[in-house]
Amino acid sequence: MSNTKYIFVTGGVTSSLGKGIIAASLAKLLQAQDFKVTIQKFDPYINVDPGTLNPYEHGECYVTEDGAETDLDLGHYERFLNINTSQANNVTTGRVYQSVIEKERRGEFLGKTVQVIPHITNEIKERMQLLGKTGEYDMVITEIGGTVGDIESLPYIESVRQLIWDLGKENALVIHLTLIPYLAAAGELKTKPTQHSVKTLMESGISADIIVCRTEHELSGELKEKLALFCNVKREAIIQSIDVDTIYDVPLKMLEEGLDKVVLQKLQLSPKKPLDLTSWNLFLEKFKNPKHKLKIGLVGKYVELQDSYKSIVESLIHAGAINETEIEIISVHSEHLEEGTVAAQLKGLHGLIVAPGFGERGIEGKISAIAYARENKLPFFGICLGMQMAVIEYARNQKGLQDANSTEMDPNCKHAVIDLMESQKSILNKGGTMRLGAWDCDLQPNTIVAQAYQSNKISERHRHRYEFNNAYLAQVFDEQFIIAGTNPETGLVEIIEYKNHPWFVGVQFHPEYKSTVSNPHPLFLAFVKASLTQKAKE
Ligand code: GLN
Repeated sequence: MSNTKYIFVTGGVTSSLGKGIIAASLAKLLQAQDFKVTIQKFDPYINVDPGTLNPYEHGECYVTEDGAETDLDLGHYERFLNINTSQANNVTTGRVYQSVIEKERRGEFLGKTVQVIPHITNEIKERMQLLGKTGEYDMVITEIGGTVGDIESLPYIESVRQLIWDLGKENALVIHLTLIPYLAAAGELKTKPTQHSVKTLMESGISADIIVCRTEHELSGELKEKLALFCNVKREAIIQSIDVDTIYDVPLKMLEEGLDKVVLQKLQLSPKKPLDLTSWNLFLEKFKNPKHKLKIGLVGKYVELQDSYKSIVESLIHAGAINETEIEIISVHSEHLEEGTVAAQLKGLHGLIVAPGFGERGIEGKISAIAYARENKLPFFGICLGMQMAVIEYARNQKGLQDANSTEMDPNCKHAVIDLMESQKSILNKGGTMRLGAWDCDLQPNTIVAQAYQSNKISERHRHRYEFNNAYLAQVFDEQFIIAGTNPETGLVEIIEYKNHPWFVGVQFHPEYKSTVSNPHPLFLAFVKASLTQKAKE
């Protein structure tokens, strides 16, 4: 019997309060006291995973080592904790129903009527304990997506209630995150929505053990007393979560408020060692006191929504901090880029990233931006679709293949330099069928990337269907435009570089998924360094 403890994080009043960041911050504090912690997220929507969701709907789709397409909160978990998550760390209602229905079809329910309670809740409970039962973790933090009171959250809340009953109060607790709104006209912070949301939770048989209050203003002692009284928790279990400039401050704020202490006390645990956040603080110190400033352009078609490129933005923060550099990201909408105006729009940038993406919209803008970066020796980093567009740009503008394109954009193009992977051709389903997760890559010696990684063998995470078409190897690559990395098993081109340039790299994979606070990604580090050199030339 493992003695893993379970911490559940629910949300009330409104969505977007940052349950993921609170969960990751608590995990960080516990990890800093030597506890082995993992975090998982249960999402109440019916998509089997977020891989089929448009980024406008749900922000970036994050990808794990084992190829799960997940909620972007898993990115926060990995970046804060420097651990890998997996398929088991993100479960949706769609996934739960899918597996219950499959069991029903196999006859596993022995003629019973299959119902939300107990069949769906049992499936949820089983999945909630999957990681805990490995015995690898002292604690499992489970974030329940959505807001308490939502119809679709009900089976999750009921499962939490049952699990607490099964596990015992000393082995499980509930943290409820709510909002304390400030009414400017009254000049007051209001506790009523929180009282209601705690009550809603109680109607489902769960009493919150700890209440974390998102607020724009400091909560007075008096207000905390009032909340404690009405919400049935101790005064020290009312935790203020005040707005901060950076998410990386949240663990420190939670430490100040004693969130970790209350949690340990409730779970009847003592710290395994005195809390040590030295390296975290070092990162923050550098991040907050930059000596340099860079403007990096991020070209994409979802730029209106910052969450669409969450991992890229965070990777730049990590790499910037180490280089003591503040990075201002200039979002450039690929649909607004035109050949004639590119120079004016990209003027003043010190580096350019062309983002991943799908579909035809905005690709000509991306290609024009890449041509500008290549010709004007502006550091360029193309990620996934960004790499594919760099190949098309070179093929069109330097190799005389005017009609070069990807068959994703133009199925009938004359020169399909980017084409559907052979393994993808017979696949009809869209969900979970891309080339996903970690794949090995061999690097060419004496390349920018080999220098950056300080290695000739790497592994990176993927999420794509198209690839460089090897029938065009001889027509596209030359002394200047080279293959810097290939997959050892399939021979797929994974990295391209342009030599006659200070830093021009395109990667078929997604390096941004592997950058963490304590382990900034080598390619982002090298790209930021190159952009600093570019700036120094001004
Ligand atoms: N749409 C491209 C493909 O499927 C690139 C995907 C991406 O950028 N993640 O290959």
